[in-house]
Amino acid sequence: MKYLDEFQDPDLARRLLDDIHATVTRPWAMMEVCGGQTHSIIRHGIDQLLPASVELIHGPGCPVCVTPLEMIDKALAIASLPDVVFCSFGDMLRVPGTDGDLFRVKGAGGDVRVVYSPLDALEIARRHPEKEVVFFGIGFETTAPANAMTVHQARALGVRNFSLLVSHVRVPPAIEAIMSSPDCRVQGFLAAGHVCSVMGVEEYPALAERHRVPIVVTGFEPLDILEGVRRTVRQLERGEHRVENAYPRAVRDEGNPAALRMLAEVFEITDRAWRGIGVIPGSGWRLAPAFRAYDAEHRFSVGGVRTREPAACRSGEVLQGLIKPHECEAFGTACTPRHPLGATMVSSEGACAAYYLYRRLDHAAPAEEATPVG
Ligand code: SF4
Repeated sequence: MKYLDEFQDPDLARRLLDDIHATVTRPWAMMEVCGGQTHSIIRHGIDQLLPASVELIHGPGCPVCVTPLEMIDKALAIASLPDVVFCSFGDMLRVPGTDGDLFRVKGAGGDVRVVYSPLDALEIARRHPEKEVVFFGIGFETTAPANAMTVHQARALGVRNFSLLVSHVRVPPAIEAIMSSPDCRVQGFLAAGHVCSVMGVEEYPALAERHRVPIVVTGFEPLDILEGVRRTVRQLERGEHRVENAYPRAVRDEGNPAALRMLAEVFEITDRAWRGIGVIPGSGWRLAPAFRAYDAEHRFSVGGVRTREPAACRSGEVLQGLIKPHECEAFGTACTPRHPLGATMVSSEGACAAYYLYRRLDHAAPAEEATPVG
């Protein structure tokens, strides 16, 4: 497939791997921020092809996984109300809240619908003025612009029966929190290319400088990831800590100006809780005062939810890169994709789901036993 196969070329992958092997002289640990990168790494066995002294730590960049339990429980409460149509992307329906998930609400008669765009939810609101239509607006800088645009559009069209349940999160404050943790082992970052295609790279040099870590903007195909690793290793070996863009076919330094304008108009920065991690200052967006009328949390009285995480689930440690998924005792036994205890086993970007799907049921095989990319 054009534009895909060339980024999975085994010969080019081998050359990048040879370069990495020739460069590395001591152990390094780097974090891939995005869950999409984690899945690509595990699916293609990239971590097993790297030198044993290069560790890839899986980061918290799975939007479904980090949506706080309190927000899931609010979604369940709103979706259970009469005359509410609750719209969401499909991967949120099986995320466990304290007492069930959106599928359970749907099974009990709630009007829960899977949509492919927030604009689909807005269209439902236009067609059904007798209903309250709520869209579950979760995710990183990648999904936030479309949700901001939808609220902007709702106001422009005078659609008053539409609202957004907002749980957006931002990557740079999460990197700051990870690097500030006393348990942190991360020495470099593969930054999420799609996030940077929206936001640009301007927030990263200060982080790289403050924590003296290389940050390499990286894509998602095997060659993208190997090139990100190669550049990170090269900086680490040289004692450098710069921001590099290894994904120039999608990322410009200034990001996407139209998306940035929409975000600045509709949202404002707020503290946000990350599931399994806790509150990270300045790490979220909420609707700005001019758009507060479209905030589902304000429209519906769901403030008093009481959350309870399953005691066995260690997804917080997985999301912070403190353990690998198969180090959780429930992995593959009490917790499977059919019966998930935590969101990291549900989401298509969750690290636990990646390890289960690609049969990483035990610790990684040594590099010599690994199979080639491609
Ligand atoms: S394997 Fe399941 S229980 Fe363990 S951390 Fe992952 S989601 Fe939680």
